[in-house]
Amino acid sequence: MSDLNAFRQEIRTWLEQNCPESMRTPATPEDQVWGGRNIQFPCEDAKLWFDRCVEKGYCVPDWPLEYGGAGFDRKQTAIFKKEMARLGCRPPQVNLGIWMAGPAILEFGTEEQKREHLPKIARGEIRWCQGYSEPGAGSDLANVQTKAESDGDDYIVNGTKIWTSYADHSDWIYCLTRTDKDAKKQEGISFLLFDMASAGVEAKPIELITGETHFCQTFFDNVRVPKANRLGEENKGWTVAKRVLEFERNMMADLEATIAADPIVLSQLAKQHLGEDPQGRIADPILRQAIARNEINKRALDLAMPRMGAEFAEGVGDPSLGMILKYAGTEEEKLKYELALKITGAQGLGWAGEGFSEADIKLTRDWLGVKTHSIAGGTSEVQLNIIAKRVLGLPDQ
Ligand SMILES: Cc1cc2nc3c(=O)[nH]c(=O)nc-3n(C[C@H](O)[C@H](O)[C@H](O)COP(=O)(O)OP(=O)(O)OC[C@H]3O[C@@H](n4cnc5c(N)ncnc54)[C@H](O)[C@@H]3O)c2cc1C
Repeated sequence: MSDLNAFRQEIRTWLEQNCPESMRTPATPEDQVWGGRNIQFPCEDAKLWFDRCVEKGYCVPDWPLEYGGAGFDRKQTAIFKKEMARLGCRPPQVNLGIWMAGPAILEFGTEEQKREHLPKIARGEIRWCQGYSEPGAGSDLANVQTKAESDGDDYIVNGTKIWTSYADHSDWIYCLTRTDKDAKKQEGISFLLFDMASAGVEAKPIELITGETHFCQTFFDNVRVPKANRLGEENKGWTVAKRVLEFERNMMADLEATIAADPIVLSQLAKQHLGEDPQGRIADPILRQAIARNEINKRALDLAMPRMGAEFAEGVGDPSLGMILKYAGTEEEKLKYELALKITGAQGLGWAGEGFSEADIKLTRDWLGVKTHSIAGGTSEVQLNIIAKRVLGLPDQ
């Protein structure tokens, strides 16, 4: 038996013996365990699974042992992910630290920064949020205006970030700040890491039309940040920022595969609302075609996502794939909800009150909610621009 086969067998046996049965189904958002100072577990099995994985370094299997990982190389990590997927194991912990801050610290951090931050992420002790967007810097991200002014060994940070997901639940932030206002915009940015409990940080939740409060506007008022917390060189933060955006898109493939399937199946919804023709097909032929196309495309994407994740784990994936699948996946998801509304008609626009079931009201809110997916992590229009220029090599006009 080759070393890798023996490794696969070892992982398989460990997972079978240690992953509780109830952790082998896709997680709903409420089931997810977000690491952090205020970590909470939806049930005892989730805690058991988390504790066992932390002990083995399995929250971050590809990180080195000294930073809290399992020290797996690319091939071992790919096998580990495949075995987790084979059994349907949920991720023991979700955290922007695992997906984005940690990999950035691994690549750009000093030894001291690695020892300080990585083990805490691996053990689920610190939850991270992303301070990139500002009221005047979203798609044009290099336009960030939050200032970090030098003051001895520290920076003094002033400004505001917006759409900071879960800033009010996070412990640390990685943040793009301007350290040279006279340089070309990409060249005057520094990438800072700081504690959300620092004096002068305030996160104000923003209520979405769906009723959720997913993100915040985050204010910095003379926040003192040690220069030792800068990741990478001063004014070279744009390089780190772009790398983190790559991590963000690639992460979506992993996550997608572990989230509970959407309960709406368009073909069933259509038969329920529109009836069937004598052959047992959806009665409306035009909607029938659109639904079939959407279901086939979504199925193809469901198969492509984990394949991309496995390729990235083996280090052979094309970096532009993440962007392409992010664009295709989020647009197809929005189309699905538009079709759901066409099927249900006025009944699919329930907001509150009598005459609407819980499912009707949820459908309306989900229809609004999925619109955020093609904005978060870079809008569809911007993804198309980048694909056109960098992948297809079209002229920049
Ligand atoms: C659910 C969600 C979570 C988020 N979480 C975070 C987070 O944790 N941290 C964070 O920093 N940010 C976060 N964001 C912000 C997100 O990154 C930005 O909303 C996104 O980059 C778009 O920026 P904007 O909102 O400023 O829109 P704008 O950039 O102002 O864009 C407005 C419109 O103009 C279009 N547009 C802009 N430029 C071009 C162009 N060159 N060509 C064609 N069309 C263009 C856009 O596509 C869009 O339709 C989140 C957003 C959402 C929806």
